[in-house]
Amino acid sequence: MEQVFSFVLVTVVTIALTSLLAHSTVFGQPDLANNVSFLRTEAQQLQQMVGPWFGMLFLAVGAFALFGSAMGIIDYTSRLAADILKTTYLPRVSESRAYFWLVWGMVGLGCAILLAGLSQPITLEPMSKFRVLRDLIVDRTRMFEALKRVKGWIPIDGTYDLGPGPRIAPEQQEFMYQLSQCITCGCCLEVCPQVQQGNAFIGAAAIGQSLLFNSHPTGAMHKDERLDILMQPGGIADCGNAQNCVEICPKEIPLTDAIAEVGRQTTGKWFRDLLRR
Ligand code: SF4
Ligand code: SF4
Repeated sequence: MEQVFSFVLVTVVTIALTSLLAHSTVFGQPDLANNVSFLRTEAQQLQQMVGPWFGMLFLAVGAFALFGSAMGIIDYTSRLAADILKTTYLPRVSESRAYFWLVWGMVGLGCAILLAGLSQPITLEPMSKFRVLRDLIVDRTRMFEALKRVKGWIPIDGTYDLGPGPRIAPEQQEFMYQLSQCITCGCCLEVCPQVQQGNAFIGAAAIGQSLLFNSHPTGAMHKDERLDILMQPGGIADCGNAQNCVEICPKEIPLTDAIAEVGRQTTGKWFRDLLRR
């Protein structure tokens, strides 16, 4: 109880004093940095108001306080994690060894992040190509509508046993498996310069799924209908081949290969339609 009281008291008094100091030195400055570097401006103000030594003292105390609190966080999170690792996952490893690796692991990770050039603030925004429902939640209905447009399914007729199904070559299976991994996340639409909110472009995901179902011996029953849809406005001709989709896809689906193959299929269909007339 005594410790809790003294901790709260020291925290409140420290925050109040440092806030008063910041308010009286730098409050209202128009170009004040919105991060911890405002301390440098505060130190410069104090140098002018009190003397150069006071600015240096302020920076030294600030650096020590920041270093101390960072060390405190690393220390107690490592203690907790080492305890959990020892009792639950790694009973043979000593707690002090786990603590050692956790502390230096965090220090190493921090150095790697700094050396990689990552900096704050990290902006978290909802996807821009979809209607925002709330916070980061977006409405991806256009993706499901696109799948419905291209008949993104294998037609099965009847409730009786259909047998083992048609045979598919292993290489074909491999390619189809890659396509089948689409999770409809929408990343390919988000980065595509051809996709805008409300426009008709069907997007790379639906084109990939069209190829998946066109490649299946039973799904190929709807192949011509799918290609007809993809030859309409908003179909494959709207793809500008920027190739952003294949770069971003978290499932590493070969989207540009799929787009190229569907392009060949639509061209073939166009010629066949022409000859039939
Ligand atoms: S980014 Fe990949 S996984 Fe996500 S919707 Fe597009 S194709 Fe599917
Ligand atoms: S290749 Fe470019 S234009 Fe075509 S779907 Fe992918 S990102 Fe969009």
